[in-house]
Amino acid sequence: MSATSVPPGSRPLSGRVALVTGSTDGIGLASARALAEQGCTIVLNGLGEPAAIAALCDELAAAHAVPVGHAAADLRQADQAAALVPEALRRHGRLDILVNNAGTQHVGPIETHPPERWREVFALNLDAAFHTIRAALPGMRERGWGRIVNIASVYGLVGGVQRSSYVASKHALVGLSKAVALETAATPVTCNAICPGDVSTRIFYRNAKLLAEREGIAREEAQRRIASASMPSGRVVSPAQVAALVAYLCSEAAAEIRGAALPVDGAWTAR
Ligand code: NAD
Repeated sequence: MSATSVPPGSRPLSGRVALVTGSTDGIGLASARALAEQGCTIVLNGLGEPAAIAALCDELAAAHAVPVGHAAADLRQADQAAALVPEALRRHGRLDILVNNAGTQHVGPIETHPPERWREVFALNLDAAFHTIRAALPGMRERGWGRIVNIASVYGLVGGVQRSSYVASKHALVGLSKAVALETAATPVTCNAICPGDVSTRIFYRNAKLLAEREGIAREEAQRRIASASMPSGRVVSPAQVAALVAYLCSEAAAEIRGAALPVDGAWTAR
C-alpha cells in the first residue's frame, strides 16, 4: 500500500508535529520524509531557493497527505535558532518531535583552523541544538510526550584528522543528548543521538565523481573505495537508512531508548 493511500489518522505518528532542522536536503530531508510517511505534520528548515523549497513542501505534502511547511532560520545565528521552535508552536500549537540535523564541517589542520570558522561550526552543530531543545522541552513535558533526535556522527564517538571542530562539536552533541536524556529520564520525553558513518548525500556522490575522473575508474568503484576507506562494510550508508532510525526512535517501541548514541556506520566504530 502506498503512503498516499493510507487514510489520515491511521498512521502511528498521525497528529504529531515534527520539526527537522536542515531538512531541505540530505539526511534531514530523508528524515522529514520518513516522519511524514508515519503521518507527522512537518516543519522543514534549511537553506535554498524559495521556489525550490515551496515545490519540496508541496511534493512531500502530496506524497504523504500531511501538512508540510518551511520555517526559515539560519541556525548559525543564535537569535534565529532560538526563534525556530516558537515559530513551529505558533503555526501548529504543539511540537512533538524535534530532529536537530543541520550541521557543517571545516576540513584542515587545527593550526590553520580560522577561529571564526570554529565558532560557526559550534554555532550550527551544537549551539543550535541547545536553543531548539530548551525551547521545545517545556511543551513536550506539558503534553506528556516528546522525541528529540540529534544527528551527530561517528565523529561524535571517535576522533578523526583534519576536522577538529567537527569532532569536538559532535562529541559535545552526544554529550548534550545524554544530559537531556537524564534530565527527562522520568518523563515520556526521550532524547538520543544518531551517529552515521559516510552517508550518500550530494557531497559523497560529488567526491566519488571526482575520484572516478581522476583515477579513470567507474563511479561505483569510486564510491566503494570512498566507503571502504573508513567502513569495514565497504558500503555507504543511505540517508533513508539513517531516517528509518529517526522514525524508529520516534515510535512507541523506542520509548525506553534514552541517552543512546547509536552508530549507523558499517562497523566503522566496531574496531
Ligand atoms: P547536507 O549538506 O546534505 O544538508 C544540510 C542541510 O542543512 C540542508 O538542508 C541545508 O540547507 C541545511 N543547512 C546548512 N546550513 C544551515 C544553516 N546555517 N541553518 C539552517 N540550515 C542549514 O547535509 P547532510 O550530509 O545530510 O548532513 C546532515 C547532518 O548529518 C549534519 O549534522 C552532518 O554533520 C551529519 N552527518 C552527515 C554525514 C554524511 O556523510 N553526509 C555523516 C555523519 C553525520
